[in-house]
Amino acid sequence: MDQRRSEPDRNTGSSPVTLYGEFTVTGNRKVRCAVSLTEKDLVVQRLTSAPVGRNKVVLSLKDCVGCRAFREDDNADPAAYLSAYFYPLKRRWMSSGVARQRVEYCFRLAALQDPRANQDEAEKWARAVRERSGRQQYLRDGVLMSELSRPRRMMLLVNPQSGKGQALTLYNNHIQRMLNEASVQHTLVITERQNHARELVREADLSQWDALVIMSGDGLLYEVINGLLERADWEEAIRTPLGILPGGSGNALAASIHHYSGASPVSSEELLVSCGFLLCKGLVSRMDLVSIHLFSSPRLFSFLSLAWGFVADVDIESEKYRHVGAARFTVGTLVRLASLRVYKGKLAYLPAAKDYSNEEGMRNNMTLHCNNQASSLSLASALCRQSRDSSCQNTFHNSCHSNNSLKVRRTESTPSRSATKALPGPPDSLLLPLDQPLPSDWVVVQEEDFVLILAMYQSHLAEDLLAAPDATLDDGVIHLFYVRAGISRTALLRLFLAMEKGAHLATNCQHLVHTKVRALRLEPYSPKGIITVDGEVVEYGPVQAEVHRGLTRLITG
Ligand code: ADP
Ligand code: MG
Repeated sequence: MDQRRSEPDRNTGSSPVTLYGEFTVTGNRKVRCAVSLTEKDLVVQRLTSAPVGRNKVVLSLKDCVGCRAFREDDNADPAAYLSAYFYPLKRRWMSSGVARQRVEYCFRLAALQDPRANQDEAEKWARAVRERSGRQQYLRDGVLMSELSRPRRMMLLVNPQSGKGQALTLYNNHIQRMLNEASVQHTLVITERQNHARELVREADLSQWDALVIMSGDGLLYEVINGLLERADWEEAIRTPLGILPGGSGNALAASIHHYSGASPVSSEELLVSCGFLLCKGLVSRMDLVSIHLFSSPRLFSFLSLAWGFVADVDIESEKYRHVGAARFTVGTLVRLASLRVYKGKLAYLPAAKDYSNEEGMRNNMTLHCNNQASSLSLASALCRQSRDSSCQNTFHNSCHSNNSLKVRRTESTPSRSATKALPGPPDSLLLPLDQPLPSDWVVVQEEDFVLILAMYQSHLAEDLLAAPDATLDDGVIHLFYVRAGISRTALLRLFLAMEKGAHLATNCQHLVHTKVRALRLEPYSPKGIITVDGEVVEYGPVQAEVHRGLTRLITG
């Protein structure tokens, strides 16, 4: 007979026990366990003999995605069952490092003859475990999906063609089970063609959904975000929490979310399990979006990157190696290195230095001009000393002054004629139309010969490329990188190798410049080329961008 005490009488060392019971393990009724629930942990202690050191397991409720009570079909058996699902970080079997791995604990509760009473007890436990694991989440932004009173409803959009064409298999092998364990109701939508998801979310009744989740590469999320911002009710629509599960070959946002969670790097299915876990936890955070203006195409929104030159070429040329999955970028990089070329154009930007954005008092009465390089640099240095933005200093010293003068004008930060006509989506306050000269407070990069220009707003450019190590989800900053022409193939390769660990900025490469900006404009001179936004090809030609801080919401766990 099971013995149960409703009053806590034990202490696991950290926090007091709120529930205690003695159950047998499902599948082996000879193994009896004492199970204690504290505010933070589920502690399972074997009461029957066990190998030394393995008789007590402390499971952190932070790692728990769900818990449920149930009865088996056998009416003669009065027992109820309790299953708890954990995804703790564990050492890998054959290699170093840790990754989340699934652990299920299932107990049999049969203290009483009345099946109803056993079921009630199991339900009580399941509720308590779920509530406490939900409470372990830090409530930010006022939204915690798991706190919704009704079951969560997600639309899960899967691109069956993404990556190696395995997204559906990965869903069947991992995600379906995880979402069930977390009691997340979801409707699977398999996309049939490019832009299917975009059209679908443009028309969808969003009141039906607590979240729109995509399982693909970054390209499908790009469709969803643009679909939402094309709606007449875009302001409300873009607040719908979005989620991402890596199922493609370019899984940069998934890798970024994993990175922000503080876990050590993983790839492939381990990344999927990590992102599935974060999705089940359901913590919603704000994410920046960047509006992109092209010469003749409608305005776009981007959540990840804008690239021209080496990176854009590799991304698109490597499409043909899609069958190797995320390794396609490594293969593409090596191929492109062999035919390294220079890209000519003009780059300008509005620095994200603190002075430009926050100090209203200064903004209204300072107009600064300097007419030679020496004074430009000393002015720039002075500005950088005012700012705590170290990358700004780096940039000014490296390369930033216009041909004749550096003009830093703070009389008016909002251009009088905005580049945004009557489009859905938020207005752009920092951009002038592309056929007009730049606003006077922008910095023009002196060089016109580049190997690459890359604007990033999240940390990862690919699963294994930590391009902007200090980027965060909603820092309101575009991390602008460019590599000047003249870099050797070896040095460029070294940069990309260092980028795997986010160490490229520490290589002190003289050709690499990194600066933080709020808006930028690029005018390529070469008549042909590739520009990518979030890894997707867009119209080639002049392009400009402005960051919109925290415009959308993403489930980050
Ligand atoms: P990957 O990382 O493998 O490139 P993406 O999610 O970026 O995966 O998708 C690649 C492209 O496929 C995107 O342009 C996306 O819009 C498009 N797409 C989405 N659904 C389908 C489909 N069912 N068939 C073909 N292409 C699709
Ligand atoms: Mg893609």
